[in-house]
Amino acid sequence: MLIYNTFSNSKEVFVPINGRNVLMYVCGPTVYDLSHLGHARMGLVFDVIVRYLSYLGYKVNYTRNITDIDGKIVHKAMDLNLTSEQVARFYANAFAKEMLALNTVSPTFEPKATDYLPQMIDFIQSLIDKGYAYVSSTGDVYFNCKQFKEYGKLAKKNLNELLSGARSDQVRSQDELSKYKLSPIDFALWKVCDIHETVWPSPWGMGRPGWNIECSTMIKHVLGETIDIHGGGEDLIFPHHENEIAQSQCLHDKPLANFWVHNNFVNVKSQKMSKSLGNFTTIGDLLANYSSDTIRLFVLQNNYRHPVDFSPEGLKSARLGVGRLIQSLSSLENNIDWPDFLTSHAQQPVYPSLLPDKAKIINFINGFSFNNNDHESFVNEFEEAMNNDFNTAIAISKLFSLSDKIQAESDLKNKQSLAILLKTYAFILGFKLTDQTPKIQANVAHDLVNLVIELRNFSRTSKDFKQSDYIRAKLLELGIEVMDSSKDKTSWKLK
Ligand SMILES: [Zn+2]
Repeated sequence: MLIYNTFSNSKEVFVPINGRNVLMYVCGPTVYDLSHLGHARMGLVFDVIVRYLSYLGYKVNYTRNITDIDGKIVHKAMDLNLTSEQVARFYANAFAKEMLALNTVSPTFEPKATDYLPQMIDFIQSLIDKGYAYVSSTGDVYFNCKQFKEYGKLAKKNLNELLSGARSDQVRSQDELSKYKLSPIDFALWKVCDIHETVWPSPWGMGRPGWNIECSTMIKHVLGETIDIHGGGEDLIFPHHENEIAQSQCLHDKPLANFWVHNNFVNVKSQKMSKSLGNFTTIGDLLANYSSDTIRLFVLQNNYRHPVDFSPEGLKSARLGVGRLIQSLSSLENNIDWPDFLTSHAQQPVYPSLLPDKAKIINFINGFSFNNNDHESFVNEFEEAMNNDFNTAIAISKLFSLSDKIQAESDLKNKQSLAILLKTYAFILGFKLTDQTPKIQANVAHDLVNLVIELRNFSRTSKDFKQSDYIRAKLLELGIEVMDSSKDKTSWKLK
């Protein structure tokens, strides 16, 4: 299994620290607004990574945080005349619902920054004690970047260049607090402030932690000092992840993460989809128009390290693609006894520990008479793609080749066993492939029966008894018994 590591700029063989257990942390949302397709891409990319590592037999501890302390949350709360907690809770709930609707696996742990304040304060104090952080004359606490010689290594930035670049007037004018720092690139660990309801006491006065220290602290307390995979969007590489490394490595004298995995952006007309540019489409709006499978295909048919170009045409063609896959499953008999791991992902959260591994999958598939050559070559090609840095673009193309094969197959038994292979391996990538066309509701069905009875009554009054008897017999076949009373009144009941 090869994974591209941003830190080394190359694909490396993935070997977890602790045997089959994988510790993975992904920077979650800052909950001050609705999420857009760019956030959905992050959710889907790391969802597939968790699913595939689980398929390979790894036990993944997938931790994704909620950033519920942030200046943006405070400002939103002031705009809406709410508390920061109310704003954060509302948007965290919305995000959780959307991630579930996108059929993503729930994180094993989802720590909130507000639950780790004492630990953050301890972390900062230890950095001060070790000489890596200092209290400025304003009372804020800063990380002293000059003290960490490796600063800039993840983002491939040279510390001296950063220091000289940051001295330029342009940078200084953007950061009016620079004059209180030892170096303009030093970043805040604790900011003193006086907005009453969103401050916490600390040895340095009432205030709030910086965003970077939140992640470093949650990783330390939920997962440990060194983890296997740290993930997030590409925009987090600098300065957020660089700063996380600086804090954690200086405290623990060991690397924070062995693999740094970053997904690329969703672009709109070559510009990154973002809140600030206002060119975003919310996940809620997408889900109102497209199935979760369509959104998943649209995102995952691209390699996660390449940009995705957003367009309604692209989504429509993904919808057609999903339709093709579903169509090739139409030969499946309804009476297949699907195992829980393939069916229990409708409305309830699925945790990584519930995902099936390869042994379970193959055991299920082998229960259906198989042409072993087809089966093995497909599985090999699928794994080859996914073992090469989670190449979902190629893995999905294998699903489509399999779908073509099903359509061309004339033997019904072979058709069915290939369809089972398709549905199962599509599941490894998180696709449901269930027919999502709307179903007739019970009340509409009731009205339809009344309508048929009404039409039958027209036949009776015009003495077309052949037709009215035909309708009565057909309704009976459907389990609906029609009863004619003496006064030309008709009622019905389910048999
Ligand atoms: Zn983070």
